[in-house]
Amino acid sequence: MEFKLPELPYAKNALEPRISARTVEVHYEKHHRGYLNKLQKAIEGQPIAGKSLEEIILSAEGGVFNNAAQLWNHTFYWKSLSPKGGGQPGGDILKAIQGAFGSVDEFKRKFAEVANGQFGSGWAWLVRDEKSQLKILGTPNAENPLRQKATPLLVVDVWEHAYYLDFQNDRNGYTQACVDHLLNWEFAAANLKAAK
Ligand code: FE
Repeated sequence: MEFKLPELPYAKNALEPRISARTVEVHYEKHHRGYLNKLQKAIEGQPIAGKSLEEIILSAEGGVFNNAAQLWNHTFYWKSLSPKGGGQPGGDILKAIQGAFGSVDEFKRKFAEVANGQFGSGWAWLVRDEKSQLKILGTPNAENPLRQKATPLLVVDVWEHAYYLDFQNDRNGYTQACVDHLLNWEFAAANLKAAK
């Protein structure tokens, strides 16, 4: 299967002033595209090349896993942010958040805590686990919750390349900007609905 770089769901400057067009340019064109190119090169002519991206993530190890998962994770990350994001979720996702964390504010606090506490490179996820519970997970490097039988609902990239141009070492400032202004609750709601 030939994988493609999915289009960004918004213009590169759409997340300003929180995330600059320059950061999105480098993150999407260099990092995201780089994972795609390395994956294509690694699987070319191999039996695994016939599998779907999710199948590769669930079965591969090493470089093939890393690049496949990073391709998937970044596509999910762009969709997890929105220029109209942040604020309060509604409907079923609101009820699920309140049920799992007590309140949206408590979810935001815990999510930021996990994102900021993830040592080194990685990801902070809101997931629905295999027991249908909403959970916040921190994963290192390329690791993806699909391998824990959990369904991702939202993600924030906490690799330094996601924030260093805009926030330097202030991961907390970046995480807070995502949580308060960019998290795409409509995307999370659609993912929750699809998981039921
Ligand atoms: Fe990234």
